[in-house]
Amino acid sequence: MAVYKCEECGNSVESRCKPGKCKSCGALKDKLIKQEQPKK
Ligand SMILES: [Zn+2]
Repeated sequence: MAVYKCEECGNSVESRCKPGKCKSCGALKDKLIKQEQPKK
């Protein structure tokens, strides 16, 4: 799983692949920045 953070509203979207848009504000995928998560 990867987490994409929306630059527009700050919402974090957890998804296996890149979401088409932010579920919260509807921003396009260019605004979704992938957050790297360290493995535990
Ligand atoms: Zn958003």
